[in-house]
Amino acid sequence: MMLDLGRMENREGFSFRNEFSIETEEGGTARCRAEVEGTVARRGGRLLLEASVESSTEFECSRCLENFELRIDTELDLVFHHEGRTEVPDCVEDEDFILLTGTIEHRYDIFPRVRESILLELPIKPVCRSDCKGLCSSCGENLNSNSCICSEKKTDPRWDVLRKLLSKED
Ligand SMILES: [Zn+2]
Ligand SMILES: [Zn+2]
Repeated sequence: MMLDLGRMENREGFSFRNEFSIETEEGGTARCRAEVEGTVARRGGRLLLEASVESSTEFECSRCLENFELRIDTELDLVFHHEGRTEVPDCVEDEDFILLTGTIEHRYDIFPRVRESILLELPIKPVCRSDCKGLCSSCGENLNSNSCICSEKKTDPRWDVLRKLLSKED
């Protein structure tokens, strides 16, 4: 995902696609496909980059263990500053502010930024959907598509009185 910033005119669009691996919490890897579309605009001696990142990663649901595609869409906002051409503003410490020095650095690889922007949005425990019922802890049945009788069997009759009281309140 190399941008040739030295050749960017007043305003230029760009787009990239990339596929890469992400390490999961469980120590496995997940395949991520990312599409980046953006523009670079020249403002004085600075370049402003705005890009949208659309990604899709194949994860195993942490509750039901089914594979699913997790979509994460984020945005990138970067400011490039040419050394010597403009005053270095106060925000130079800002992580989104990138100082371009030698001409060789006019080629800028935005892939690490794209990857980082996706990683920041990844949930620690990805689930296929927010109301995923997961697997039954007794029989292993996927409770999204099937029900099992374990929960009925496990019910303690001593709680029945309380359960009746609670259901009356509804
Ligand atoms: Zn699930
Ligand atoms: Zn069960």
